[in-house]
Amino acid sequence: MTASRHFSNDYAEARGRFLEASRRAGAAVESHENPTRGPGGEALFADVAWLGAAEAERVLVTVSATHGVEGFCGSGVQCGWLEAGLHKDLPDGIALLQIHAINPYGFAWLRRVTEDNVDLNRNFVDHGAPYPVNEGYEALKEAICPPEWNDAVVAETGAILDAYAGAKGPRALQKAISGGQYSHPQGIFYGGNRPTWSHRLLKRVFRDRLAAARQVAVIDYHTGLGPHGYGERICIHDPGSEGLARAQRWFGDDVTSPALGDSASVEIFGFNVLGMEDALPEPAALTAVALEYGTIPSPEVRLALRADNWLHTHGRPDSAQGRAIKEQIRAAFFPDEDAWKELVWERALETQRQALEGLAEG
Ligand SMILES: [Zn+2]
Repeated sequence: MTASRHFSNDYAEARGRFLEASRRAGAAVESHENPTRGPGGEALFADVAWLGAAEAERVLVTVSATHGVEGFCGSGVQCGWLEAGLHKDLPDGIALLQIHAINPYGFAWLRRVTEDNVDLNRNFVDHGAPYPVNEGYEALKEAICPPEWNDAVVAETGAILDAYAGAKGPRALQKAISGGQYSHPQGIFYGGNRPTWSHRLLKRVFRDRLAAARQVAVIDYHTGLGPHGYGERICIHDPGSEGLARAQRWFGDDVTSPALGDSASVEIFGFNVLGMEDALPEPAALTAVALEYGTIPSPEVRLALRADNWLHTHGRPDSAQGRAIKEQIRAAFFPDEDAWKELVWERALETQRQALEGLAEG
């Protein structure tokens, strides 16, 4: 077991490791300070590191912490790639752009959301148009996000959610909870009512750094959905699109599509890939996958998210209950097991190598 050494125990360690590994690798690094602070009052940054020719037309982009607390996984891969010296094999003409902790608030505070309680992967909708309506969430929102949190409330609200799944099916419950919603700013899976800081930064980085790019591969690292330790390659390019066809060609038949119904993820609105497409120059071809690793069963992940939402809306993170909830959510998105980290690492290596081969072929 060697992969676990690349993974950090908190945001500050992850950031320090990423900056050090990037510096040693000779990467050009830009740091973008988030307007909020971490739990210890520390400044928070998204760090962007570029390796390879500045005007490269083919670029592999990796992203960590789109969903904050999921950043332990992506950061471990980003750091490991450099610490293991794999960047030295970067093919001629291909650059590597690593975006570390795009949502540093969520990573530092062990939350899936940004500083304004926004799910970044529901935020890339057209905020000038009517928002999608999630009827299941509307029906269940008081049970999903109750004002109190204790064993009795967890049991009571759990029964309401189970009854909904019993009547309409487990997929309908998944859609109600995680499909995204735009009506309940203090709730979970909230898509926001404007582009949030991380959204604007992601687009700015794509516009600034990829102006010369013609072929861009993106691997955005996620955790918390699917079988323990399995990395699902979720592709949200439209069915029938060149992007989906390319992803299947590069990564193989196990690429999944929420729109085609073969993914562990339900179809959602406002994915970050839409912002990437928007920010790339016109002739650039984008091939993006979310590499989503399973951790613990979905009902437990959802319970951790509901507890965390209650904590930051009604409770106190620095209380005993708050600390217990923080441990719960961390474990839901980052199993502290060498075997899990090894699976993450092997699948990530394979996926990034396939992306580099795909970029080389064009
Ligand atoms: Zn995620």
